[in-house]
Amino acid sequence: MNPSPKPATDLPATFGPETPSHLLVVDDQPINIQALYQIFHADHEVFMATSGAQALEICANNPPDLILLDVVMPEMDGLEVCRRLKADPLTANIPVIFVTGQTDPADETRGFETGAVDFITKPVNPAVVRARVKTHLTLKAQTDLLRSLVFIDGLTGVANRRRFDEALAAEWRHCRRNGVPLALLMIDIDFFKLYNDHYGHPAGDACLQAVGTTLKQAFGRSHDLVARYGGEEFACLMPECVHAGALAKAESLRLAIEQLAIPHAASPLAPGVTLSIGVAVVVPGDQNQPRDLVSLADHALYKAKKDGRNRVCNSD
Ligand code: GH3
Ligand code: MG
Ligand code: MG
Repeated sequence: MNPSPKPATDLPATFGPETPSHLLVVDDQPINIQALYQIFHADHEVFMATSGAQALEICANNPPDLILLDVVMPEMDGLEVCRRLKADPLTANIPVIFVTGQTDPADETRGFETGAVDFITKPVNPAVVRARVKTHLTLKAQTDLLRSLVFIDGLTGVANRRRFDEALAAEWRHCRRNGVPLALLMIDIDFFKLYNDHYGHPAGDACLQAVGTTLKQAFGRSHDLVARYGGEEFACLMPECVHAGALAKAESLRLAIEQLAIPHAASPLAPGVTLSIGVAVVVPGDQNQPRDLVSLADHALYKAKKDGRNRVCNSD
């Protein structure tokens, strides 16, 4: 089953000079590929394709950091390859530099209109092509970094509310398409106001960080998402997770935080910090909406609070 597209929440792997960037060179003439390979292979990982179709396949399976793309190729030309890459959210952000024998301004304009970031004319000058590729790789890394920061909660380092809202919409569509359940855990720290009152706000921040980190570490599957929903509330979204699995996961998270044994002397409940968790699972369809899942989980959380806190409650 294909994952739904999602933005990165961690720092991009391409950032920093230590990581060799991954370039894709596309040209129907092996001799042209060879020329670019000679220029880049010492500093970059260079992948090659001799047709547009092959290039698209490589990009779908292993997206490169940058593409050097021939314009004139039989069957699918470079313009069409670029158009298709830009139309797919999974490949739209890969910078494309056209490498072309043509120097007609109208052709160049057409190339930029399809979404290319630059044009280089053949025969290539090694110093010029190296400089341009370096510029665009740096820009790409900076853009990736900024894009990832937009989705991260500054205090805890887990996904933020914006990322959660986007993931909920995307996973909802994904699960609906495939007729599979989507699970949501709403997690709230018990008596956190008393924690702040007793230990001070900076200690409260450190507690939130510890809880966020522990929750994040507890999720191995790449499609599960831990987000700070607001204040001292976290949300975990688990696509393709059945009810029993969601309940078991919630209980293991509750236990993991209890076992951190962060002292909470002001808690009327326990010697350490505890969580209340509401669990909801639905199969998305015509009759329900993403906000219904949030309401169900919220309601279950409310029940967990009412029934005594430090527990997991179901939405049913
Ligand atoms: P309950 O068990 O019913 O959830 O009680 P509670 O005290 O945890 O809930 P309440 O909603 O009354 O208080 C939430 C507290 O969380 C109050 C607020 O100051 C604190 N809080 C929210 N965001 C932050 C934050 O970023 N840092 C710190 N230190 N505290 C925060
Ligand atoms: Mg609370
Ligand atoms: Mg709360």
